[in-house]
Amino acid sequence: MTGTPLAAAAIAQLEAEGIDTVIGTVVNPAGLTLAKTVPIRRTNTFADPGLGASPSWHAFAIDQSGIAFTPDVGVIGDQRLRIDLSALRMVGDGLAWAPAAFFEQDGAPVPACSRGTLSRVEAALAEAGVEAVIGHEVEFLLVTPDGGRLPSTLWAQYGLAGVLEHEAFVRDVTRSAAAAGIAIEQFHPEYGANQFELSLAPQPPVAAADQLVLLRLVIGRVARRHGLRISLSPAAFADGVGSGAHQHFSLTMPEGPLFSGGAGARGMTAAGESAVAGVVGGLPEAQGVLCGSIVSGLRMRPGNWAGAFACWGTENREAAVRFITGGPGNPRGGNVEVKIVDPSANPYLASAAILGLALDGIKRQAALPPEITIDPATMPDSDRERDEIVSLHRGQAEVIAALDHSELLRGILGDPAVDMVVAVRRLEHERYGDLDTEQLADKFRMAWSL
Ligand code: GLU
Ligand code: MG
Repeated sequence: MTGTPLAAAAIAQLEAEGIDTVIGTVVNPAGLTLAKTVPIRRTNTFADPGLGASPSWHAFAIDQSGIAFTPDVGVIGDQRLRIDLSALRMVGDGLAWAPAAFFEQDGAPVPACSRGTLSRVEAALAEAGVEAVIGHEVEFLLVTPDGGRLPSTLWAQYGLAGVLEHEAFVRDVTRSAAAAGIAIEQFHPEYGANQFELSLAPQPPVAAADQLVLLRLVIGRVARRHGLRISLSPAAFADGVGSGAHQHFSLTMPEGPLFSGGAGARGMTAAGESAVAGVVGGLPEAQGVLCGSIVSGLRMRPGNWAGAFACWGTENREAAVRFITGGPGNPRGGNVEVKIVDPSANPYLASAAILGLALDGIKRQAALPPEITIDPATMPDSDRERDEIVSLHRGQAEVIAALDHSELLRGILGDPAVDMVVAVRRLEHERYGDLDTEQLADKFRMAWSL
């Protein structure tokens, strides 16, 4: 998937309009956004045959220097980064952007590539007659250029004060995102001091993840224009609230949507129930992909609206899977929000894991566990046991082991992708597992920042 080459006249036109540089980005298994740029006249070459990148790109760790070498990923070899021209966007000030994916020099897709992996899962869904869309949420904290706290003298949870304090930033993001063709649904201050949230319109999975990466790029650029930076850490400050990267998904089969208008629980169809069951049941094994970084455990606690228990409930913000019913207030129809995903995750792999689990649930007609209509943390252990509610892992060692041993996730994502996620997270654990909460939050506050 690299799109149709641009005609010489089209490139000349872009140059005449002042576009000089194309950025191509990939997101690696540690959740780092990596990039190369070319002058505009080299756009087609960036798409095919692509630009060289060492396999070690998959292994780059979040500490600015570590490389999690594996038997498959070492210092030998060179892959090709190819941008997808069909997704090329103008982001302002002479800059264009396109998402990239990894290919071998002979043109074969690299199995560990996250965009390629999500493309394969999207194709597997299509094969089974299932069409998926994903709506991403972005939570982040505004910080000073060196990652320090901004004043929050005027701030209330979801307060107008936050909009007014950062009005120029908010409007600049809205304008810049619109100019880049990003469909923002809403943008507002969040619960934590200087924390904001945006949600994006649903799109097919790969396009949705591309749009998320582009939005992060736009927010990063705008923050700089206002002398600020963004933290995309799941736990920016040890004493503050966490940031999630919730993903909403809905599924449609030729007979209609799976989460609205059905005869099952809350309007789900039988296949819809099985899809939710597949996701809920697979979460403990998928945590390594959805929220597996060394700081993810600081957020994954009851009371944080992060979904620390593997269960589902309608509009239940303490359930890992929040079901949203269709109706007048939700004209797009019923959908499912996976709350445990955080911004340290690779969004392509996270979507691939979620949708792969949903498809697995559908294929084996998994039975939906009981709906949880209260905060699961308030339930006695015996009730949680009865309702099959699992407390999600807090420790990174357990998260990594669960993924490493998961035949299910290995089947969905493939061994190369799982092995790379395990390798980068294991490096974090081995090098930084002894740091205390505060040291961890401080050290990695800006690790995923753009
Ligand atoms: N900030 C919370 C999290 O870490 C989510 C709050 C919300 O539900 O929007 O996931
Ligand atoms: Mg939120």
